[in-house]
Amino acid sequence: MSLDRRAFLKLGLGACLLPLVGAGRAQTLVSEQLYAFGTLVEVGVATDRPALAQLAIDRVARDFVAQNRQWHAWKPGALSALNQALADNRAHQVDAQLCRMLREAQALSRASAGMFNPAIGRLIGRWGFHDDLPPTGAPPSARELAELIAVPPTMDDLVIEGERVYSRHPQLQIDFGGYAKGVALDLALDRLTAAGCNHAVVNLGGNLAVSGQREGRPWRIGVRHPLRRGAIIAVVEVEGRTAVVTSGTYERYREHAGRRYAHIIDPRNGQPAAHVASATVLHPNAALADAAATALVVAGPQAWPEVARAMGVTAVLLIEPEGQVQLTPAMAEHLRFVSPPASVRMVRL
Ligand code: ADP
Ligand code: MG
Repeated sequence: MSLDRRAFLKLGLGACLLPLVGAGRAQTLVSEQLYAFGTLVEVGVATDRPALAQLAIDRVARDFVAQNRQWHAWKPGALSALNQALADNRAHQVDAQLCRMLREAQALSRASAGMFNPAIGRLIGRWGFHDDLPPTGAPPSARELAELIAVPPTMDDLVIEGERVYSRHPQLQIDFGGYAKGVALDLALDRLTAAGCNHAVVNLGGNLAVSGQREGRPWRIGVRHPLRRGAIIAVVEVEGRTAVVTSGTYERYREHAGRRYAHIIDPRNGQPAAHVASATVLHPNAALADAAATALVVAGPQAWPEVARAMGVTAVLLIEPEGQVQLTPAMAEHLRFVSPPASVRMVRL
């Protein structure tokens, strides 16, 4: 299916692909939309061999459906089987892919000083953010949260021996909601490149990754304004393998008695992160970018540069709840604001 490029505009929460202006060499953008990872997904390939691209896109679409099942925290699949074993205090044999993810998540969690902590699945589940739909009703009580974070599980409590996994912490449950989409983006671009599709864009609900170029120019990505529904705050131009991943407290939250509770949880106090509206990270590795974007939201408007440095991230755009913007020089190189922000602070890492 060849789509009007404008179709991409409807997409994405954190970011979306923008149409080209005055395109040069005409290439077809073959694209496909589907629903996976609880969100709208789009895969596009700029190509002059549309039939081949379509086959590769179909494979990627099938991968997403399988990954969504395998890496879901509680729907039946590989990760939920591991979580069940952990809950039963049993060792469990995982497949090679899940094993790689657990090891990488362990390293990323350590680098983030525990701000990115997929071992707090029980806490996330208690807030109700395991589900595709935002939960309703009163948030967990202070007492319950205090119990859950008294001795919080960390990824280092997970012991990985070969592909055999067990936990030293009885409360440890894995939630890859802040990371699996990044892994899926990396694998999707690997799959497309292997099939000869070297110019591609993959959008998992506003988390994007691109490869190559769009008709001899960089891909143009719109970064959604976290505080103005439907508006774009900036345009980012990227080419070659690059992920543009955004974590935000504005698009997925539960609401109760006039208060909003975002789906990113601060493992230190068990509460939803409330001091960052969104964090956008550019990085060649989408899994790292995904973990980092989540970690930066948790770290907050003062501490994030330290976490970015430790995770090896240089290009960051961070927007505070009142609209103040912080960004790094490496991000500024790629970015142009379209809605003037309240204030902009350049942060050298
Ligand atoms: P999105 O899924 O909207 O792209 P994120 O990448 O930030 O945003 O992922 C948020 C999800 O990550 C939550 O729904 C939850 O499943 C999980 N999560 C929440 N807090 C943390 C945390 N501190 N560390 C790791 N994962 C988290
Ligand atoms: Mg994330």
